[in-house]
Amino acid sequence: MIGSSVVARTRSWIVLCLGSFLGGFLGVLTIGSPAIAADCPGHPDALGTSRTLVVDPHEHPRIGTMQYRETLPLKDHEVVLTFDDGPLPKYSNQVLQILADECIKATFFIIGEQAKANPEGVRKLVAAGHTVGTHSMTHPLTMDRMPLDKAEAQINGGIEWTSAAMTDPSKLAPFFRIPGLMRADGVENVLISRGIQVWSADFPADDWRHVSPDRVYQLAIQRLEAKGKGILLLHDIQARTVAALPKIIRDLKARGYRIVHVVPATAEQLATPTTPVEWLLHPPTETTPIARWPAVPNFVFAQTKTLPAPSLADLNAQAAHQPLLPRKTMALANVAATLPVPGRDLFAIPEGSVEVLLSTTLSRRAATRLAMAAETPPAAKVKAGKWHARRTARAAHGTPNHAAETEGTAAKSTAPKSAAPKSTAPRPTRVASLKKRAQ
Ligand SMILES: [Zn+2]
Repeated sequence: MIGSSVVARTRSWIVLCLGSFLGGFLGVLTIGSPAIAADCPGHPDALGTSRTLVVDPHEHPRIGTMQYRETLPLKDHEVVLTFDDGPLPKYSNQVLQILADECIKATFFIIGEQAKANPEGVRKLVAAGHTVGTHSMTHPLTMDRMPLDKAEAQINGGIEWTSAAMTDPSKLAPFFRIPGLMRADGVENVLISRGIQVWSADFPADDWRHVSPDRVYQLAIQRLEAKGKGILLLHDIQARTVAALPKIIRDLKARGYRIVHVVPATAEQLATPTTPVEWLLHPPTETTPIARWPAVPNFVFAQTKTLPAPSLADLNAQAAHQPLLPRKTMALANVAATLPVPGRDLFAIPEGSVEVLLSTTLSRRAATRLAMAAETPPAAKVKAGKWHARRTARAAHGTPNHAAETEGTAAKSTAPKSAAPKSTAPRPTRVASLKKRAQ
C-alpha cells in the first residue's frame, strides 16, 4: 500500500533508480504518515489506500454533509469511495477488479435482494477487504414516508440477507445508507437506537442518471475539488460507473488525493481518536471568525385557535429597561372609566363660522364672505376702506343664521354662538383682500 502521493512519487523515482524491488521496499520505509503500510503487488503506480479510519457509530450516528452536519473526520485531500445497490455480477465484478488493481478499499452498501440473488458477490467484497454495509431489502424510495414498521422490515431484510451471504456475519458493518437518501427522523432513530451509523455522502457523481461516463468523471472530480475531501457516492451496478472509475482514480492520484478505508469500531479495534471539530467538513480555524448567527429555536406550536396575549415577561424585558415599556398596573383598567366626560361645548363650532357655512351648498368664497361679515365688529367695518365696506355689506345680504337654516342642517346641531367668543375665533383668510393688495 502506498501512503500518499508524495510517497508514490518518491517511490516512482526510486523505482527508476534502483529497480522495482528496492523501490517498493524503500517506498514503505519513506512513509512518514500513520498510513497502514502495504504494497500493491504488480501495480507500482497504484493509488492505494493511505489509511484506515475506525469509527464508532454511537459517537457519530449521522454522517455526510449532503444531509447532515457531520461527516467523516477526513483530512484535506482524503477521499472515501462508496458504492451502492450491488452486488450485480456484471458490473460489481469489474468495479472490484478496478479497485483491486489500485489497492483501494471502499465501502459497499448492499441491497438485500441483490445479496439474496448473488451471495457470492457479497463474499467477494468481504474477501477483498472492503467494508460492507446495507441499503435496505428492495431499495424503496419512500422510506421518508412509509410506516415505521415497514421501514424496519426493509432495514432488517437487507441486514438479514447480506449477513446470510457472508461466511462470517460479524463482518457486516453497522453502516446503513437510506435508499435515495430519503431520510426521515423515525427511520434514523430506529437505526441509531440499534447502533447503526446512517451514511449520507458529501457528493455524488450522478452515475445513476442517463449521463456519459465522462460526465460522471467530471462531476466526481469537480465536486471533490469544491469540497477538498469527503465521501463520494457511486453505484457498482452501472456501466457508466465502470467506465468512469479508472479515470476518476487516475485523476485522484494526479491531483494528490488519498483514499481512506473506513471500518467500524469493535472490541478489538477501537475508534480512531478524533476531536468533535474534525467531524465537520470545514472546521473553524483560528483565522475563521467563530461568531455565528444565533440558532433559530425549534418552536413548538400548540394546537390553539387563539394565541395568548404576550405578558411583559415575554417581551424579554430586563429590569433596568422596564421603564421604557408600558407599565403594567392594576389601575390601568379603571383609567378609562374615571376620565371626565368632555363637555359638549368643547366640540362646538360657532354658528356662522366658515366651517359651518362650508357644510352647506355655499361656495368657499361665499362662505368666507359670510363668515367675515359675522365676525367683523361694527367698528372695524367703519375703519375699513370704502371698497371693503361695500363688499362686506353685499356679502351680509343674507345673515349667517338665515343661510344655515335655509340651506343646510349642519348648523342646527352646533352649539349657540356664546360658546365661542368672536374675538378668539380664528379669522378666515381674506382671499379677496390679498388679491387686491397684490395688484
Ligand atoms: Zn441506492
